[in-house]
Amino acid sequence: MEETLEITNDFVSSISLRHANEPEFLQAVFEVSEDLIPYIEKNPEYTKHKILECMTEPERAIIFRVPWINDKGEIEINRGYRIQMNSAIGPYKGGLRFHPSVNLSILKFLAFEQILKNSLTGLPMGGGKGGSDFDPKGKSEAEIMKFCQSFMTELSKYIGPNTDVPAGDIGVGGREIGYLFGQYRRLRGEFSGVLTGKGLEFGGSLIRPEATGYGLVYFVEEMLQHKGDSLKGKQVVVSGSGNVAQYTIQKCLEMGAKVLTASDSEGYIYDPAGIDEEKLAFIYELKNVKRGRIKEYAKKYGCDFVANEKPWSVKCDVALPCATQNELDENGAMELVKNGCHIVGEGANMPSTPGAITVFQDNRVLYAPGKAANAGGVAVSGLEMSQNSMRYNWTREEVDAKLKWIMQNIHKTCVKFGCEEDGFINYKKGANIGGFVKVAEAMLAQGLV
Ligand code: NDP
Repeated sequence: MEETLEITNDFVSSISLRHANEPEFLQAVFEVSEDLIPYIEKNPEYTKHKILECMTEPERAIIFRVPWINDKGEIEINRGYRIQMNSAIGPYKGGLRFHPSVNLSILKFLAFEQILKNSLTGLPMGGGKGGSDFDPKGKSEAEIMKFCQSFMTELSKYIGPNTDVPAGDIGVGGREIGYLFGQYRRLRGEFSGVLTGKGLEFGGSLIRPEATGYGLVYFVEEMLQHKGDSLKGKQVVVSGSGNVAQYTIQKCLEMGAKVLTASDSEGYIYDPAGIDEEKLAFIYELKNVKRGRIKEYAKKYGCDFVANEKPWSVKCDVALPCATQNELDENGAMELVKNGCHIVGEGANMPSTPGAITVFQDNRVLYAPGKAANAGGVAVSGLEMSQNSMRYNWTREEVDAKLKWIMQNIHKTCVKFGCEEDGFINYKKGANIGGFVKVAEAMLAQGLV
């Protein structure tokens, strides 16, 4: 016990020095090492070969200038990134994020999480992440295209179907992937599976847009089934109204749950009657076509819009944060617990702060971290890569069945590594150890590289 504490302290102080000024990255590493260090200690090979130290150092981090010209004819300069974190079990794989908050710390945290998440899917994918501080909000179609083309002109030097396969994330949806793919194809003169989340007409997979949200709900249903319950009739609170939130809501409705909220960066709507199919169609149109604000939902359906707040004070059985990192803090977690919420499934990456996770664990709330619960997106990206390699497409039913099977397997892995003596499932521990083992074994087998 004392020895564990000493190793933990040594690791924490050396990594804090090495990655100073990267709070999100350190937060992700500490969250994982809390579970991994006691496990690694029992496996001296991992300690001797400094596997965790290696895993927290990117294999490569690329930072580049993205110059482009706006509609007024002015020059704009953004910063582009690609973090190639770990390729021990497959090509780097992970999304691109376009958001003004993007920086090295955020992308390193996402790339690190991605290593374990991709491993949990059981598919051969390493971990990576990238993006830019470019803000797509309020930009014209022409500006989005020009930016994507300039971004890809540089990024294309470092990626490829067997090297690194980016996908979408916040601010990067089907439209952006289309422009990025077009520019890669033009520059390289080849049609290959270099990006996932592509349109169906040019190598995309059915169910990819839906995959993260559907996968999250499949995972939560497994958590409930494991204790003899189901989503049917449950009250659900969702944050976000983008890709992940939309398909999370859709699948919740299909499973007979009632969804009470949705949000964006300006606040949340609370609809006590529940978001139904018709209202969800309004959200799709509002967010994907008109690119409007969620408060318009409240105006249209006569419900409350709460400005600048998160939805965690709304009474529910299940909470599904699907917007962004650190959107659910200790106070939000206490509100949820007070109101009887007993399951939290993360659609977003690291939406819960360390304080919130402690509240969940202290109150025996079943808490599924993003690396397990939102792995459905990258899993179907992996299936898109397989289909591209085969030059063949599976049907919607085939992809959906594989997605469900993968989410069930991730749940089994979490139970295997996270089951405590009293039968309580510590999903965080299960996901961290379950994701780590395969990558660690591959790193050991491949030597010091
Ligand atoms: P989208 O861009 O489609 O939607 C993001 C949503 O989150 C929007 O409603 C947005 O509101 C809100 N949001 C973004 N930043 C903030 C902020 N700082 N504060 C409050 N709300 C915010 O992204 P996705 O749905 O694709 O991604 C959502 C989360 O899911 C991210 O954490 C992402 O990493 C994670 N994820 C996504 C996957 C995917 O397949 N897309 C796969 C796995 C995880 P607004 O429009 O006002 O900005």
